[in-house]
Amino acid sequence: MSDSDEGRDCIFCKIIRGDIPSTKVYEDDLTYAFNDAHPKARVHVLVVPKKHYADVNELAQADPSLLAHMVSVAQGIADKVYHGNFRMVFNTGEDAGQSVFHVHAHVLTGEKMA
Ligand code: 5GP
Repeated sequence: MSDSDEGRDCIFCKIIRGDIPSTKVYEDDLTYAFNDAHPKARVHVLVVPKKHYADVNELAQADPSLLAHMVSVAQGIADKVYHGNFRMVFNTGEDAGQSVFHVHAHVLTGEKMA
């Protein structure tokens, strides 16, 4: 299956292309960041690579520098909204709560975490 085939039915690929609306927080050549539709913190942003990978393990194997870049993007968001503190979560696999199989970092910030 080609990258474009994988992306065709992927909800986050559609968001990146602008086919589904989202509230953009940050964008560069490699990543797109937008507010989660069901926030679990005062600020809850999803950071996704523009290239489709199913999960964080697939991304780490294929392009570790892109994974590191996602951490930098999260840091930049938290620097702006909450003195650089953030929680980053990758749900990986259905039993871990992953429901969208385009790798995404949940970046939770904007308040003191319990
Ligand atoms: P997962 O359960 O895969 O770790 O996280 C998927 C996240 O994507 C959930 O937190 C969910 O609220 C968010 N989400 C799913 N569909 C959409 C959408 O169409 N727009 C936005 N902004 N977030 C979405």
